[in-house]
Amino acid sequence: MNDKKAVFLDRDGTINVEVNYLSTAKKLVLCPGAAAAVKTINDLHLPAILVTNQSGIGRRMFNAGMLEEIHLKLKELLKTEGDAKLDAIYYCPHLPKDGCNCRKPNLGMAESAKKEFNIDLHNSYFIGDRETDIEFGRRAGGKTVLVLTGYGKETKKLLTVLPDFIAQDLTEAVNWLKEDIEKNAGNKNSRN
Ligand SMILES: [Mg+2]
Ligand SMILES: [Zn+2]
Repeated sequence: MNDKKAVFLDRDGTINVEVNYLSTAKKLVLCPGAAAAVKTINDLHLPAILVTNQSGIGRRMFNAGMLEEIHLKLKELLKTEGDAKLDAIYYCPHLPKDGCNCRKPNLGMAESAKKEFNIDLHNSYFIGDRETDIEFGRRAGGKTVLVLTGYGKETKKLLTVLPDFIAQDLTEAVNWLKEDIEKNAGNKNSRN
């Protein structure tokens, strides 16, 4: 099924419970159903790629080593709660004022993943709870899904351009993209 699609996942408020600058692994809790949802992406043989803005590093609230610990715990929880795995984790450590090209909605992390996994960004899905996540996916030319977990409910009120789908949570988001892929595959078949 993998025609160079990937699923780009935001972290805070999408996979794990939003706690406003998650700074230690101890505070990490997965959103209900998140591990099973990532497992569904794995079973579709699509790269599951985490893309996360972590300006807490730039703000010196935590450092790269602490973030590494958080990501080890994240991988461990995904494994134990759902036998799920992330294919890659990209993060931006910068502050908004740094003007880097990796902070979402800038496309640096998507471009890196594109090179590493030979991804077609236009064919890919982008899931997150913030405006920046939706804008990131839109700039990449892919399909966007807003989840109503984390900041999602507030984001929904702010969005001037709607995402392709609004999901209650990651489970619903992944079910939607699975159906979307199957529907498009069906359309292709019916033309043959
Ligand atoms: Mg988020
Ligand atoms: Zn950056």
